[in-house]
Amino acid sequence: MYHRKINNAAMWKKIQKLRELIKMESNFKERVCWNCSKDLNIYDFLSDNVDFTPEYILKLWQTPILEFHCCECFRNLKIDELKKIEQELPTRICLKCNALIDIYKFSKFHNYLKIHELRNLWLDSKFNVFCDNLCQRKYFKIYYDFLKKRKLEKQKELQKQI
Ligand SMILES: [Zn+2]
Ligand SMILES: [Zn+2]
Repeated sequence: MYHRKINNAAMWKKIQKLRELIKMESNFKERVCWNCSKDLNIYDFLSDNVDFTPEYILKLWQTPILEFHCCECFRNLKIDELKKIEQELPTRICLKCNALIDIYKFSKFHNYLKIHELRNLWLDSKFNVFCDNLCQRKYFKIYYDFLKKRKLEKQKELQKQI
């Protein structure tokens, strides 16, 4: 709960900042979804991209060569693309717990990736695939513990030799 409140406060600040930036922008663009022509709202765009700064959001919004989708069209588009990737490779296995993962779950875990980046990683057998953050953390903890142990053992051996 506490965490969420902080997030909301940070979001509110971003919205205020964006509002100020828009006021100063003399040629603010009206945008519609290029697929279904629904009106788009820059504040929705901001809340879908929480990691971007308000400055960057406005810059993207004002860029003439970029086309935007509404949320629904975006989701449908993404699902179509994900289905194509699924045909290439339906599942992978979590490196930590051996659970089967499909491309939909993988895309949720890596939702910051563009579809071609998602595809490249999914098809790359050297890329470590995990269920979620928890499995990823556990895995790397075991791995780092292992390395630490190895290092300590080596040091001990060296000390013995001296
Ligand atoms: Zn649309
Ligand atoms: Zn797992």
